[in-house]
Amino acid sequence: MWAAAPSQKQFDPTDESYDTISCDVLIVGAGGAGMRAAIESFDLGVNTLIVCKSLLGKAHTVMAEGGIAASLGNVDPQDNWKIHFSDTIVEGQQLSNWRIAEIFAKEAPERVIELEYYGALFDRTEDGKIMQRPFGAHSYRRLCYIGDRTGLELIRTLQDQVLKRNIPYIDESEITCIFKDRRTGAVSGALAIKIRTGELILLKCKAIILATGGCGKVYAVTSNSWESTGDGIALAYRAGAELMDMEMIQFHPTGMIYPAGVRGMLITEAVRGEGGILTNSKGERFMEKYDPKRLELSARDVVSRSIYTEIQEGRGTPNGAVYLDIRHRGSNYIKSKLPSMYFQFLEFAGVDITKEKMEVAPTVHYQMGGIRVVPETCETNIKGLYAAGEVACGLHGANRLGGNSLSDILVFGRRAGLAASEYAKSSSSQEVGTEDLAKEISRILAPFKNVNGSNPFDLKDRIAAAMWKYVGIVRNETDLRKGLDEIGLIKLESKNLQAKGPRAFNQSWADSMAVWNMILDCEAIIRSALARKESRGAHTRSDYPRKDDANWLVNIVTKEKEGQMVQETVPVPQMPPEYEALINREEILAWKKNVKQ
Ligand SMILES: Cc1cc2nc3c(=O)[nH]c(=O)nc-3n(C[C@H](O)[C@H](O)[C@H](O)COP(=O)(O)OP(=O)(O)OC[C@H]3O[C@@H](n4cnc5c(N)ncnc54)[C@H](O)[C@@H]3O)c2cc1C
Repeated sequence: MWAAAPSQKQFDPTDESYDTISCDVLIVGAGGAGMRAAIESFDLGVNTLIVCKSLLGKAHTVMAEGGIAASLGNVDPQDNWKIHFSDTIVEGQQLSNWRIAEIFAKEAPERVIELEYYGALFDRTEDGKIMQRPFGAHSYRRLCYIGDRTGLELIRTLQDQVLKRNIPYIDESEITCIFKDRRTGAVSGALAIKIRTGELILLKCKAIILATGGCGKVYAVTSNSWESTGDGIALAYRAGAELMDMEMIQFHPTGMIYPAGVRGMLITEAVRGEGGILTNSKGERFMEKYDPKRLELSARDVVSRSIYTEIQEGRGTPNGAVYLDIRHRGSNYIKSKLPSMYFQFLEFAGVDITKEKMEVAPTVHYQMGGIRVVPETCETNIKGLYAAGEVACGLHGANRLGGNSLSDILVFGRRAGLAASEYAKSSSSQEVGTEDLAKEISRILAPFKNVNGSNPFDLKDRIAAAMWKYVGIVRNETDLRKGLDEIGLIKLESKNLQAKGPRAFNQSWADSMAVWNMILDCEAIIRSALARKESRGAHTRSDYPRKDDANWLVNIVTKEKEGQMVQETVPVPQMPPEYEALINREEILAWKKNVKQ
């Protein structure tokens, strides 16, 4: 195991030296997707290395609360993979890749059982099976959970497996670039900065799995952790990979409103799953208007838009929110099923949720779009480059169902590990070009050489503010253009970023890297949002308020062409007729009529 000991060496800010480490499969990220990929790759006898930006075991996945979706049928025996498949596609507003959804729904139960076999301690039914709770827009009670700390247990369990196997890892290290062999176009390595010391490491490898999570931090109000600056998207795009559905950003209906320091922090959907009721300032249970059948457990895009409308139309609280009320469940029940929520409100807001209502408003939560991959293997269009987890695209379409991400990261983390290992076993080592390496080192050290340069902290804040203001829940051409202009200005300023101080633990240097990545992500999001001239799922356009299946049943692919970022549309892959019948079930058609888009 590589557990990097703190080095005493101080690096001159402009020192261009580097260490070299070789492996077969390099896994970037140690969330659920990265760790599950590493276990698979290691067990197949391949020389595997994990590199992650935070400490091992601290990835964003630990924050997941409500549960992991899999059609075990422990509580509702009628449930099965076909209904889970159908719910996923229907709520994704038909933009999901059917093959990805099929693999996902079929394999999710196996991955949950495997997690239990690895040692995860799930909540139980009275007869000892894994407990399952209801969640928004799932037809049955389908979310397996550990109170409201499911992600913590998932990461603890996978981390145990990684440590038990002695899988090598380098944590607190950031990948800045993917190298390709100029002769073959295949992946040949990556460059890392070790945050603790500031040293550079050239990682030579045959395959890379990007498992870097989402890009929620490009917005000012988000539930996401500090790591979610969309690095994987930028790394892949710069290496020539295609992105898809970048306009699809999920706004979770219930984020905290105050105090300012925790604005956007998530209030898990499990609160509504356990019976929480949403009301406006007039005391009306407003979801009766927007989705009379499913009420608070409607899809996230529907609930978020409903809350947004209530606030916009003057029925919000003085703090610009609505109320979420779980008091009727009683103190003991709340403390046992939602312990984190209880402490979160008590400690941060001084609100006892067993006695008082919560104030909530939408927060940026998840990126449905991402790197375009092959369903079975998670392979990108670059030889040797794979992507899994939130950074990849294709499963969730225009709206992700709660709980579907945790099963996604396990199903496709495993598949990426399998495919990358097989590829690495059958391929020869590739060359990292000396020119490419020198160019990248010079790019990342530039902020130390700049004088009177821009402050990366300021640019990061300006990016997040512009995205929140111009690329929010409800969008229109004028605002999107303003957003693009603002990001364009920031892009110009970012050419001259300045980092001060030594290289070890240098936040302004790390933020310089984040700014460059965030700008690329934002450009892809805004350009894709401009391209989609309709409203579908999480993408609502006030100037194109209707869903337009005749013209927009397409995925929007973002790629580089002659140095420019361009968007192209490709039809959503046609599913076999027997699956069409599944998504047109009578009960689905019946409730859909009453839901306000
Ligand atoms: C508060 C909250 C609650 C949630 N609850 C649920 C839930 O109940 N159920 C559900 O299904 N989903 C939930 N989600 C969503 C889910 O947690 C995430 O989508 C999922 O955990 C993403 O996992 P991942 O493995 O793809 O990436 P992450 O867990 O985000 O891990 C990314 C990894 O990549 C590393 N990394 C990033 N950039 C770099 C770089 N440049 N170099 C090196 N390493 C890098 C990071 O350090 C990290 O190790 C929730 C999300 C939030 C924010």
